[in-house]
Amino acid sequence: MKASIPILFFILAITNISFAQSDNHKKIIVITTDGLRWQDLFNGLDADILKYKPFQHGDSTLAVNEFGGLNADEKRKKLMPFFWSIIAEKGQIHGNRKLGSLVDNANPYWFSYPGYSEILTGQVDTAINSNEYMPNPNTNFFEYINTLPFYKNKVVAFGSWGAFKRILNEKRAGFTVMNANEVDNDLQKDPQIKFIADIMKDTYQPFGSEETQDGFIKYISLQYLKTKKPNAMYVSFGDTDELAHAGNYPEYLKAANRFDEYIKSVYDFVNTDPAYKGNTTILITTDHGRGDMVKTQWTSHGQKINDSHQIWYAMIGAGVEPLGEIKTNEQVYQKDLIHKVAKIGNINFISKKIK
Ligand SMILES: [Zn+2]
Repeated sequence: MKASIPILFFILAITNISFAQSDNHKKIIVITTDGLRWQDLFNGLDADILKYKPFQHGDSTLAVNEFGGLNADEKRKKLMPFFWSIIAEKGQIHGNRKLGSLVDNANPYWFSYPGYSEILTGQVDTAINSNEYMPNPNTNFFEYINTLPFYKNKVVAFGSWGAFKRILNEKRAGFTVMNANEVDNDLQKDPQIKFIADIMKDTYQPFGSEETQDGFIKYISLQYLKTKKPNAMYVSFGDTDELAHAGNYPEYLKAANRFDEYIKSVYDFVNTDPAYKGNTTILITTDHGRGDMVKTQWTSHGQKINDSHQIWYAMIGAGVEPLGEIKTNEQVYQKDLIHKVAKIGNINFISKKIK
């Protein structure tokens, strides 16, 4: 049958609309680790840090045996083997400044709350100038997608740091934000998560009550991912920052190595589960950098530490071009990252400040 031209246009218009609507059904996973330096991600173990006895914590040879090597390529593959095999082949890794790839905080503070807010709201609010800042007045990406049909009530966040209920404004955002040493009752309905929560409660808290260890966040979030199958999940680790502040370079490296292993666990699951396979976009990044020009400042960050605005990010999965390690000149800001995910997911997100 020959359709008349107006009818054809009508049909085309309808198909376009339904394409646009059915297209934002990408599963989204964002994973961060606090204050992991780009220098270590791209170059591996830094012998200029490890040569200082106070940073060895009695473990210089073990760290060298585990993560040492003849050159940056060899060392980084030992430190973060998943990044430097699968992500380097199938995803993108940005932030190697030696190759011209610059990734930076746009916020002027270079510590955690402003950094996470920049990542999760996709913009900078300079009023957020303290880690003790009140519940975030700016709406975040996960809060927005929790209003879209595909994501509604299928959004969750896990953070090792006790500030995430404020950073994501859990009360307003309307999805579960587990943080620090407190596991929400709704999560504990899962007997395995309850078991992990019980162990957590009975374990010494080396970083205090406001920060749990990464291992707990790792297993709780993996269990949730595998059983509840969220359509969007944010997971935030903190060991790298805590151990760096403690000046413990060998343990900081081990935390980075465990973070890499976690990404692998998520990726392996995503690639075998039919609900996620081929339909999941993963963003991996950090909230701020740390010192490097003055080697002893690697433990620290913030405005007084010159280079601690320098960060990195990686992406892998659905809609991500396999560019590998970026070797061309670019300037990316932390506030751009969530918009890259939004673009792949065909999601129109702009943060709003709610007074
Ligand atoms: Zn810190």
